[in-house]
Amino acid sequence: MTAPPSRLLLLGHPVAHSLSPTFQNAALRRLGSPLVYEALDVPPASFGDVFRALGAQRAAGNVTVPHKAAAATLSDRLTPLAERVGAVNTFWVDAGGAIVGDNTDVHGFDSAVRELLGRAPANIRVALIGAGGAAAAVLAAADRWPGCAVAVWNRTAARAQALAARFAGVAHAEDFLADAIRRADLVVNATSVGLDGQGIPVDPALLPRRAAVVDLVYRPGETTWVRLARSRGMRACDGLPMLVEQGALAFERWLGVAPDRSAMWEAVRQKAGVAPGAPAPRADARVATPGAEPGKA
Ligand code: NAP
Repeated sequence: MTAPPSRLLLLGHPVAHSLSPTFQNAALRRLGSPLVYEALDVPPASFGDVFRALGAQRAAGNVTVPHKAAAATLSDRLTPLAERVGAVNTFWVDAGGAIVGDNTDVHGFDSAVRELLGRAPANIRVALIGAGGAAAAVLAAADRWPGCAVAVWNRTAARAQALAARFAGVAHAEDFLADAIRRADLVVNATSVGLDGQGIPVDPALLPRRAAVVDLVYRPGETTWVRLARSRGMRACDGLPMLVEQGALAFERWLGVAPDRSAMWEAVRQKAGVAPGAPAPRADARVATPGAEPGKA
């Protein structure tokens, strides 16, 4: 294994709200590592310079909104999954000094769905609301679920069509949200609607009651959409399980060792508050991510 990174950072704009430093630092402390995971607010105009300079320092870390696509362009090498998604949320420097860009959001989403459904997803119909970078990660995960079909709807229809075309083996675009959700077994919000604590992407009363609901948005006390869906007796989770799992896999990429997930969740619970009905994370929740490089940092 190569030497540990010189620094661990989250690059975003803004980043102050992020929970990642809270749970990554809890896991680093539990490991006894001297590293501290820092949040760095990087405006888009300076992202390229900062990213390359950090690579020269053998730093590693995460990338969040709005830099994931830029990080994919600026990395020296992409894992096949990052290439497929077209976005990088995790990076490190390899033994030859090259910046490697990966995407662990795919694993985070996959893991959250498995936890919510209590099984590996197969033969399900998915309604995906949104067509940005997070929606691409959702499709990269669903692409591997046997017998899965995804109906993509987005406020800007052309983006839904372009995204579905990139994942034509599993996805098609719908012009009307009602058509996308009518027969869904799983409904996913991959838009930023709900970040304000009030908005909902679609009235849960319109969803088939058997459907499970995953909101990629997270905020203290969960999102309104998740609370409403649960109040109808539906299975639902917000973006926290995905966030923690993408972070746990990133930790493995950087340090070559799995983090203590219970330390991560304990820190998240203290900071954000998790509703009693939220799915309990499995301490051993791990799913292989083909195409990436486990243990390489
Ligand atoms: P993005 O690339 O900027 O895409 C934003 C998406 O939201 C687009 O589909 C956009 O539609 C839609 N949207 C924005 N405002 C809207 C509105 N008022 N009404 C309807 N649609 C609206 O962002 P992203 O990276 O995909 O992230 C999307 C969300 O997922 C964010 O809230 C982010 O925090 C969350 N996320 C969570 C995790 C996690 O670990 N839980 C990981 C990644 C992302 P248009 O195309 O019409 O603009």
